[in-house]
Amino acid sequence: MRYSSLFAKTNKAAPADADSTNARLLIQGGFVDQLSAGIYTFLPLGLRVLNKIKTIVREEMDAVGGQEVLMPALIPKGPWETTKRWDSIDVLFKLVGAGEKEFALGPTHEEVVTPLVQAFVKSYKDLPVSAYQIQDKFRNEARAKSGLLRGREFSMKDMYSFHVSLEDLDAYYDTVGERYAKLFQRMGLDAIKTEASGGVFSKYSHEYQVATPYGEDLIYVCDKCRWSVNREIAEVKDGDACAKCGGKIHETKSIEVGNIFKLSTRFADDFGFTVALEDGTQGKVWMGCYGIGMSRLMGSIVEVWHDDRGIIWPKSVAPFAVCLVSLGSKDADVAGRVSQSASDLHDELAKAGVEVLWDDRVGVSAGEKFADADLLGMPLRLVVSEKTLAQESVEWKERSCPDSRLISQADILESIQSFLAL
Ligand code: ATP
Ligand code: MG
Repeated sequence: MRYSSLFAKTNKAAPADADSTNARLLIQGGFVDQLSAGIYTFLPLGLRVLNKIKTIVREEMDAVGGQEVLMPALIPKGPWETTKRWDSIDVLFKLVGAGEKEFALGPTHEEVVTPLVQAFVKSYKDLPVSAYQIQDKFRNEARAKSGLLRGREFSMKDMYSFHVSLEDLDAYYDTVGERYAKLFQRMGLDAIKTEASGGVFSKYSHEYQVATPYGEDLIYVCDKCRWSVNREIAEVKDGDACAKCGGKIHETKSIEVGNIFKLSTRFADDFGFTVALEDGTQGKVWMGCYGIGMSRLMGSIVEVWHDDRGIIWPKSVAPFAVCLVSLGSKDADVAGRVSQSASDLHDELAKAGVEVLWDDRVGVSAGEKFADADLLGMPLRLVVSEKTLAQESVEWKERSCPDSRLISQADILESIQSFLAL
């Protein structure tokens, strides 16, 4: 893709009111645009990142038997009354439709998914069932802040599982929990599985926390076995010995990127959802729910992967693998040859399936192009210039390394392929 054809460009100056690193870099880089506090447009580059995150999450949820659905965000009042949550969820966005009918914009979907699955599942033979969606959620957060970390409209993956017994729920809960660790790793995040309050039904739920200085949460983590607990329920403090292994407990700020929760039979009971058991009696239905903040993940990745010049996208979620930069020249003939060579390279890479963004702007200085390439944070920068042409080569610089080197034009595709396969 040619940078000149991208309508959403980088800004020279950082936004004055950005309250976090991810807001500053994502807005300055033209990845997102803020409409209002906690409400964002995903621009072409940002949407590519969000879609890659979604693809990874889909693959991992499919791998644990999740079936993707898409439920409505506009939910009538009825089911919220059934669960007695119409008045108890303080962040519920409520609205009145035609005929004075009341609705809420979904902040979570137990009220939709439980009667939905109930309509199809009648017997123990139909269980377990696991359904997930990736959808925008709405929460009237008192303080929407920190860019994509706490939005009023934000993208979430929410999965719900239904089981015939607590034992079956327990086993599935562990399976999903293990998968989560892998999922976050694929995006370059080391998410710590942290014990959190479990509500009335189970001792703990688990949160997946990414340690960063900008996180809203505070967790305690063992430096040896990585056992971790959220401060909200913690009976430990900084410097304590770990009860599990004797290691040392450290306090750290963190961002909750996901959580898993045993709902027990609470929602199934509310809707009178039972299944016929083998012996002919009706049995309770046990539920688990499993959330991941998709847009919050994108913000978290930036919080972890940046330096003072910009974002450093992990390869798996980078909007483009390569930022190709062609440099101008005062000599029109040289400029023409450089541009032609960059165009050929762009086409060759694109044809081979390499995602490449070509900074083809004319009349923009090398310094400005390099600063933008650093801000945008593609894993690999390639430069074509008069100097590299003379050596039948291309300058190769990885975003995460300070050094650059020349690679012969003939070897470039193979080098990129092995770089991306790493
Ligand atoms: P938090 O404790 O951060 O308020 P939560 O425990 O209320 O989140 P859930 O309702 O379980 O979160 O939502 C699942 C996931 O959605 C969370 O783990 C988080 O990653 C993400 N999330 C929750 N609220 C927001 C928000 N306002 N903006 C962006 N992501 C969010
Ligand atoms: Mg939470």
